[in-house]
Amino acid sequence: MITANRAAAQPRRWQQLWREAVSDPHELLRRLDLAHRAGDLLPAADTGFPLRVPAGFIDRMRRGDARDPLLLQVLPLAAELGEVPGFTRDAVGDLAARAAHGVLHKYEGRALLLATGACAVHCRYCFRRHFPYAEETAAANRWQDAVAHLAGDPSIDEVILSGGDPLSLATHKLAELGDALAPIAHLRRLRIHTRLPVVLPERVDTEFTAWLASLPFQRVVVLHANHANEIDASVASACAALRETGATVLNQAVLLRGINDDADTLAELSERLFAAGVLPYYLHQLDRVAGAAHFEVPDATALALVETLRNRLPGYLVPRLVREIAGAPSKRPV
Ligand SMILES: *Cc1c(COP(=O)(O)O)cnc(C)c1O
Ligand code: SF4
Repeated sequence: MITANRAAAQPRRWQQLWREAVSDPHELLRRLDLAHRAGDLLPAADTGFPLRVPAGFIDRMRRGDARDPLLLQVLPLAAELGEVPGFTRDAVGDLAARAAHGVLHKYEGRALLLATGACAVHCRYCFRRHFPYAEETAAANRWQDAVAHLAGDPSIDEVILSGGDPLSLATHKLAELGDALAPIAHLRRLRIHTRLPVVLPERVDTEFTAWLASLPFQRVVVLHANHANEIDASVASACAALRETGATVLNQAVLLRGINDDADTLAELSERLFAAGVLPYYLHQLDRVAGAAHFEVPDATALALVETLRNRLPGYLVPRLVREIAGAPSKRPV
């Protein structure tokens, strides 16, 4: 017993890598041989959303290229500071959709748990960059409010773990939730929205996959990768490990100007995902969140891109182009 307890107290390898993530923009630029560009790239004032990126993700960036599509997803830029009309702090109506502590219930049959506010990477375009997470996570009171809401509403058959990134939580925390959900007879599916298998694939360790495989629900894992360069061999093996649990593995991407807004890049992303056993699910039009206006792609361009994909790829490799509209009953096709 003592040995087991001691083992449980040991930080996992992924937790060590998490702690070693880079949070200093100058350090990030140094690692990419871009230190000399700090003056013209970095914002003069605090953006209110700090840099955070795991070292393994930096390794997939091109040295000496300030336009690298992975770098642009994480590097704070001066462009974030400008105020642009129409770009707000609560772009998708999350504050109005709270059904219980840490629960968003917007769509029929599906309830989303804000499992945690933490993420391994901070994506500059993220619509949640302004959400008041500290007060608002479902795990805060051992999941009690969230589980009570799910148990009390038989119309809910799918629970979605989101955040933040739910895989930021230690597996024993997730297991606590799994144990609380297991007796709820009307739940059929458990879905996890996570970017961790992409930015820190070590998170998909045997402890986690054993937990996922043990759940009494159908399981869906929706990854988040925006560019083929994000998917290297380590990510492909994490995807394989996820599939071996019996989970369906999908990907959602965000259409981002200067990062993936051309047909070759999007086609390559679909191909690389499928090679890793992952199907493209959604391609999101950007949520109009303050500080992200410079990433927006016009609808006409987005529609033309997806039309090109449709002509070039098998239908199952074409993601659905959608936008989230506050108050709408589902994600809306563009
Ligand atoms: C996106 C989202 C879902 C899931 O929508 P799907 O179309 O089923 O992928 C569920 N709940 C909330 C609050 C969401 O934002
Ligand atoms: S990992 Fe997801 S929730 Fe976290 S910052 Fe990136 S897009 Fe936002």
